[in-house]
Amino acid sequence: MSLFQTIKTPVVTYEQPLGLFINNEFIKGVEGKTFETINPHNEKPIVAVHEATEKDVDIAVQAARRALEGEWKQVTPSERGRLLTRLADFLERDIDTVAAIEALDNGKGVTMAKGDVAASAGCLRYYGGWADKIFGQTIDTDRGSLTYTRHEPVGVCGQIIPWNFPLLMIAWKIGPAVATGNTVIIKTAEQTPLSGLYVAKLIKEAGFPPGVINVISGFGRTAGAAIASHMDIDKVAFTGSTLVGRGILQAAAKSNLKKVTLELGGKSPNIVLPDANLEEAIGWVNLGIFFNHGQCCCAGSRILVHEDIYDQFLELFKKRAEENKVGDPFKTDTFQGPQVSQLQYDRIMNYIVDAKHAGAKVVTGGERHGNEGYYIQPTIFADVHEDMKIVKEEVFGPVCTVQKVRDEDEAIRVANSTNYGLAAAVHTTNINSAIRVSNAIKAGTVWVNNYNTLHYQMPFGGFKESGLGRELGSYALENYTEVKTVRIHLSQA
Ligand code: NAD
Repeated sequence: MSLFQTIKTPVVTYEQPLGLFINNEFIKGVEGKTFETINPHNEKPIVAVHEATEKDVDIAVQAARRALEGEWKQVTPSERGRLLTRLADFLERDIDTVAAIEALDNGKGVTMAKGDVAASAGCLRYYGGWADKIFGQTIDTDRGSLTYTRHEPVGVCGQIIPWNFPLLMIAWKIGPAVATGNTVIIKTAEQTPLSGLYVAKLIKEAGFPPGVINVISGFGRTAGAAIASHMDIDKVAFTGSTLVGRGILQAAAKSNLKKVTLELGGKSPNIVLPDANLEEAIGWVNLGIFFNHGQCCCAGSRILVHEDIYDQFLELFKKRAEENKVGDPFKTDTFQGPQVSQLQYDRIMNYIVDAKHAGAKVVTGGERHGNEGYYIQPTIFADVHEDMKIVKEEVFGPVCTVQKVRDEDEAIRVANSTNYGLAAAVHTTNINSAIRVSNAIKAGTVWVNNYNTLHYQMPFGGFKESGLGRELGSYALENYTEVKTVRIHLSQA
């Protein structure tokens, strides 16, 4: 099978790389395996890509190690920053192509995909700015010594990403790693390998030395597991399910105790208090759950509404959800495209069927949309109780529950009654309620009068079973540096 193929999308025709990107070259996997990626809009294969297995992970690690100890070490911090900035420039130059790839492979609306490209470029540029601002401290302990710290790269980093934001996750992962002088092997999700391979082409064009960033396509149980347990990978960063996250931590502990950061699932509460601006709140609640077809780790899937406004809220929210444009990702006004895969479609439909059987009331949706593609109607459940599966488990689809709460205290109690702690929101016009609720909620991000407004300058990550460590902002830099203390004994003149 060849290493490149021309792909025609409704908006652009482009050259798609298909190989594993190791040492700045696209190559075939050692075992010669390939796998198909499916267009979720029509359920048909788009193209087959080369598959990495354990042996390819070894080769990528060797390339990353060689780069780390060799050419990359000689590259100055400001040059590292310049390379990241150039990559950001190329993403913006090719925005139409990259957005089309995301729409084709992931199913997200092309307009939303352009937002992902812009946010990815912003993220890379932001970390490019950090590259020459990484420094330690000098510490005065006594007159007879000089002590200082150096923030050194951790080393070779394995990064495993999911399919919900294929491009954005690459930017979040490689930005802080490369800015701080590490080298990277990034494994894309098997459902969405295409944008990563296109970015690989841009990485080479930007002028990164060979081996600094290696991009491989492959499956979790083979290539992903090989990364997690590799003896020569110094750090692993993972985004995906809590189940797999636990396994990554175990594999790291059983192998070489590589550093681990995890960004996992959620069941995030979105609280609407009686003094909220209801019209605005409904807009944010709608975006909170239905953005990216509900395939967001921080999706506001549990909506908690004060009893005084519950009936009015439900009526207006139903109307708003029914206005969401569901359909072809290549239509510029599409808000919700198909779910990413048959498997995800089935998982979500099972949750919907289970909720109906358990007695939850369908306010709107609850069925497939159309008769081709992995489309699901925006779905709202009411009359749920706290021990239902639909209230407790992450659905990762366009499905939410609305619960009635008596007062602020009950809202906080219900909001916190989950093993997850990724995000939350409160909608209120009372500053005291806003601060009280924000302080009381156990979650890594709390939005007040907005939702899903992530930004690369703001840290993001989970309390409880939603993760370990923080991505984005200056906080992410700590994941990718080791602190070395140097203490010098001064001879007395
Ligand atoms: P997943 O956790 O299985 O996959 C995410 C990534 O991990 C992929 O790159 C996959 O290849 C890799 N992976 C899978 N098994 C692995 C293993 N044993 N070792 C190393 N890497 C491995 O997620 P999924 O099956 O695609 O989706 C399942 C559920 O995960 C979803 O329904 C959703 O609840 C959750 N999810 C969360 C996020 C998030 O952003 N937090 C993203 C995707 C999925």
